[in-house]
Amino acid sequence: MNALGKRIADLIAASGPITVAQFMTLALHDPAHGYYATRDPLGARGDFVTAPEISQMFGELVGLWCAQVWHDQGMPLRPHLVELGPGRGTLMADALRALKLVPNYLASLKVTLVEASPALAAIQREALAKVAAPVAWQTRFDPAHIDGPLFLVANEFLDALPIRQFVHTENGWHERTIVTDALGALAFALAPASANAFVPADRSPAPDGAVYESCPSAAAIVEEIARTIARQGGAALVVDYGYDAPEFGETLQAVSGHKFSDVLSAPGESDLSAHVDFRALAKAAAAGGARAYGPVEQGRFLTALGIAERAERLTRSDSEDAKRARDRLVHPDQMGRLFKALAIVPPTAAPPPGFSQ
Ligand code: SAH
Repeated sequence: MNALGKRIADLIAASGPITVAQFMTLALHDPAHGYYATRDPLGARGDFVTAPEISQMFGELVGLWCAQVWHDQGMPLRPHLVELGPGRGTLMADALRALKLVPNYLASLKVTLVEASPALAAIQREALAKVAAPVAWQTRFDPAHIDGPLFLVANEFLDALPIRQFVHTENGWHERTIVTDALGALAFALAPASANAFVPADRSPAPDGAVYESCPSAAAIVEEIARTIARQGGAALVVDYGYDAPEFGETLQAVSGHKFSDVLSAPGESDLSAHVDFRALAKAAAAGGARAYGPVEQGRFLTALGIAERAERLTRSDSEDAKRARDRLVHPDQMGRLFKALAIVPPTAAPPPGFSQ
């Protein structure tokens, strides 16, 4: 067992079983050994590759999407561009470079990066050292300083937020917990208390063994974003892997070195994530007083924004790489179908680009 595993086992010995959400938080964010707190997980030599790391086209199209929505809303003053979980800062750097095409948006833009990991914030500072907009950092999303419309992007951020898992048994729903087994290793268990109150009524009846996952922190942050957008204008674009129709089945996964690994055996050494429940996010956006569009599949979304034309232009000046990257982002067997985009806009705004029905 590694050092963080021992700490978690001690914590369980001292104060009892922990929830899956508590385990995820410790494994990802423990200041000394947490996965994100201590490393740069991205890229070919890291554990996983994300859309902005595959191609500059992703960040460029996302940046231009924000500018188009800003334009459609009448070019409101003091726009803010916020990114949640910016990784290496690649998406934002590509977006801001593309936004040189829209100088009146870029000139008034204030950028905020919301990043919990000191290691990644340092990499972002370097990546964005020369951009043409003021950039500030926060460790958690706080809209207090947003004094104009909020344009917000979050790619592969919500999948990293801690989920709770509930398992259906012959006695109803019970929350999955983490305990130590007879040999002292971390193991999954079920809390004895009923968790029926935590599972929406439309999830029952369910077969025994069915797993329901919820991500309260994703719903809370999306509701807060929606409230800000409903009040001040702007738009949010959330891109992640996940599902639209609710499913029964667990999606919590550990990834290390581009391969699936065991969730419990080496906490802090592999990325933990879960598929995003887009329907729950759309509901949270409505609860915040905004309107959600989508989810639409990433392939369809990027195609509607013109990724094919952009790849064509890059290919002429460069190599075949841009076309290969385009295929990775849009092909249904690659990222095109599993990944989805959801947009959040004020209730009276027009459907944003890529989301027209
Ligand atoms: N958006 C980037 C990185 C995705 S990895 C890309 O597409 O390449 C997830 C990112 O979210 C990392 O930057 C990670 O440090 C950050 N993150 C994870 N949980 C977080 C939290 N609770 N608060 C703030 N940032 C978080």
